[in-house]
Amino acid sequence: MAETVHSPIVTYASMLSLLAFCPPFVILLWYTMVHQDGSVTQTFGFFWENGVQGLVNIWPRPTLIAWKIIFCYGAFEAALQLLLPGKRVEGPISPAGNRPVYKANGLAAYFVTLATYLGLWWFGIFNPAIVYDHLGEIFSALIFGSFIFCVLLYIKGHVAPSSNDSGSCGNLIIDFYWGMELYPRIGKNFDIKVFTNCRFGMMSWAVLAVTYCIKQYEINGKVSDSMLVNTILMLVYVTKFFWWEAGYWNTMDIAHDRAGFYICWGCLVWVPSVYTSPGMYLVNHPVELGTQLAIYILVAGILCIYINYDCDRQRQEFRRTNGKCLVWGRAPSKIVASYTTTSGETKTSLLLTSGWWGLARHFHYVPEILSAFFWTVPALFDNFLAYFYVIFLTILLFDRAKRDDDRCRSKYGKYWKLYCEKVKYRIIPGIY
Ligand code: NDP
Repeated sequence: MAETVHSPIVTYASMLSLLAFCPPFVILLWYTMVHQDGSVTQTFGFFWENGVQGLVNIWPRPTLIAWKIIFCYGAFEAALQLLLPGKRVEGPISPAGNRPVYKANGLAAYFVTLATYLGLWWFGIFNPAIVYDHLGEIFSALIFGSFIFCVLLYIKGHVAPSSNDSGSCGNLIIDFYWGMELYPRIGKNFDIKVFTNCRFGMMSWAVLAVTYCIKQYEINGKVSDSMLVNTILMLVYVTKFFWWEAGYWNTMDIAHDRAGFYICWGCLVWVPSVYTSPGMYLVNHPVELGTQLAIYILVAGILCIYINYDCDRQRQEFRRTNGKCLVWGRAPSKIVASYTTTSGETKTSLLLTSGWWGLARHFHYVPEILSAFFWTVPALFDNFLAYFYVIFLTILLFDRAKRDDDRCRSKYGKYWKLYCEKVKYRIIPGIY
């Protein structure tokens, strides 16, 4: 039996329900935002009248134009990933003792992508509003295409794994859901998770944020201040992501989660559809906040994005310098934790217990959630669906904090216990 964090029954039930319900949810979210004015009640009324057949009727068929848009975008991003120059960066040591090597060209790819997209629009070569007009078909194509992609990853994991950081847990559903390989690659250099998570998923977030803004401009002849705040904050967040992309390669998504449905389908479909949904909502809801309120929200959002960045930076700087750095102006307090790799070697890691990491063991999730709140709140409170991403993110990160704690407890044993005694709270200081 495969080892699971939650009880096996909860694990199977949650995996099967996510596999079954996430695809229709993406379509329902798009349909409600774009065709039902963002109103869950209206969508509910539609299904009350039309039943399940209603879902079949509204589900857009993947059209040729949708496939073309996805193919051009994916091929462009893959080419940038392979061809743009970048510094050689080493990832963290994997559980099997490997150290993957990456090319850090994410920020260049990000600027080239945005400049190309805006250039195509500016010179009248391609109108981004077309992407919004075919959004349902694009999401539908992504849903099916990414599912097939995950099946191929599963097969690759069995027949041609890229490294010994791979293997089956003996259960087909878990292997498909959590993935077989930690660092699947095509050839030596094309890292599949960097492509799915960063260059396709996170990049699509920025591209769609710009798309929604342009679409609102096309409809109304101007962009509302609420849309501007939303777009700027989402772009600041994604810029921060690419600025720090090499740091992302040290996080759970890349260093611990294998390439399966959970992470790859999530980044290929869930990020473009759900993560961008507050902007999708605003296209048809041009709320005017007034300059003062807009600026307050903007500043609060940027501050939260900065704090989230600073938490990640502090941990990585601390690890990179082997604890020989200053944390909030002082020598850091730390725990030297030893652990054994799957190949039986004993290694040590440093756990930071001061700065942001002394407030709570996953304090960085607080500003992450607040940032999402601040780029959603310009939509005000007419429809709760605009807040779906914030609610989803909160659940995701609370679950992730538990998963990470459990993983670290089994990795570091008594040292993690010591860390939990020193830093008592999991996410919110004084509360949880
Ligand atoms: P972290 O970057 O927090 O990485 C967790 C790992 O850090 C642990 O597994 C452990 O790994 C190490 N670690 C834990 N405690 C310490 C410590 N005190 N000192 C040093 N190292 C420690 O995890 P995430 O991947 O969850 O977060 C990365 C970023 O991504 C965050 O900014 C987060 O907000 C964001 N994020 C955003 C999501 C979204 O959907 N918008 C989803 C998830 C994350 P080791 O084995 O190396 O010790």
